Amino acid sequence: MTDFEATRAMFYLPEGVVYLDGNSLGPLPRTAAERAKAAVEREWGEMLITAWNKAGWMEQPSRIGNRIARLIGAESGSVVTGDTLSIKVYQALAAALAMRPDRRIVLSDKGNFPSDLYMAEGLLGQLGNGYRLKTVEPEDVAANIDDSVAVLMLTEVDYRTGRLHDMKALTRAAHAAGAITVWDLAHSAGALPVNLAGAGADFAVGCTYKFLNGGPGAPAFIYVAPRHSKNALPALSGWLGHEAPFAFDLAYRAGRGVERMRVGTPPVIQMAALEAALDVWGAVDMTDLRSRSIELSERFIAGVEAHCSEVQLVSPRDPHRRGSQVSFAFENGYAAMQALIARGVIGDFRAPDIMRFGITPLYLGEADIDKAIEILAEVMADRLWDHPDYHRRAAVT
Ligand SMILES: *Cc1c(COP(=O)(O)O)cnc(C)c1O
Repeated sequence: MTDFEATRAMFYLPEGVVYLDGNSLGPLPRTAAERAKAAVEREWGEMLITAWNKAGWMEQPSRIGNRIARLIGAESGSVVTGDTLSIKVYQALAAALAMRPDRRIVLSDKGNFPSDLYMAEGLLGQLGNGYRLKTVEPEDVAANIDDSVAVLMLTEVDYRTGRLHDMKALTRAAHAAGAITVWDLAHSAGALPVNLAGAGADFAVGCTYKFLNGGPGAPAFIYVAPRHSKNALPALSGWLGHEAPFAFDLAYRAGRGVERMRVGTPPVIQMAALEAALDVWGAVDMTDLRSRSIELSERFIAGVEAHCSEVQLVSPRDPHRRGSQVSFAFENGYAAMQALIARGVIGDFRAPDIMRFGITPLYLGEADIDKAIEILAEVMADRLWDHPDYHRRAAVT
């Protein structure tokens, strides 16, 4: 059994805070601060440019990629880190489209994260030539997979409601129709067991600053199924994705395997923090994590529903159809969330009316859940949210 007391001790959490927003920005793993400091002082400071070789900076994106691969059921050598998730969405989608040149439709759903849809729109606009993004309701995705679809592009866990798509079934349906799949694991990696190889996924992408706790601005990752790695064209053909970057050839030749999805110079200091954050997972069994996440989520839902009749559950009630977050709708959700944050319970708000709570067993236990319920109940019962300060919208919600 995973020792969740031990994992909790690996994080720095400010005194008195119940942190229910690890689905948006994971907290600081204690060793990440030390590791980043070492990267700055011992590597950058002392080794200067020789650190690219001596400190293994050049291999860092695939070394870290391999560690993430183990958490998402990916084959070794099939994941590389770098850039931001939006950029990795673009790369994966472009590569997938190039594999179905006779088709024009990208199918996605209306629950997808806007940046994924924006990147798709931008890419399809550039391609012109009849390319089109089709978005349907999440529950209608399966019914819309047909032989016009080039790429099925979905985020496995809905960022607002936590609704979980059936990756295996949808991938099978897409393949039966001759389509390629791009899965976004932003709210899956580190949140629940994922089995990319078992599902037969083609491409996947995700970020590392949410459930993987890599820190603000931590690099994204991209997965290319080994069977595609020779044919997948990296739309963003930067020098570090070249077969031999230091040959400085004038012509681009895609690198070996997933390495070709690298673009430019990696964010070394940020990667150092991420590498330390991934150490936490050495002691974690994903099946244990999942059952613990369900246990805590069920406790939270039951408590909130028993004490706060004002809010409505918008996450699926069946825990097996949810990721690792719980969301409630409330008309004054933004103000209510500010009132909660002012009292040390940190979640977030997603327009138009969703109060979102990340359930992360690595550093949350029953006492945290109970405290969050108690404070939410006070905020609701005494209308503590109805204060002018709490209605003022900040840039980040
Ligand atoms: C968090 C998230 C993003 C954010 O993309 P960045 O480029 O890292 O800012 C994109 N897509 C999904 C599905 C997300 O959940």
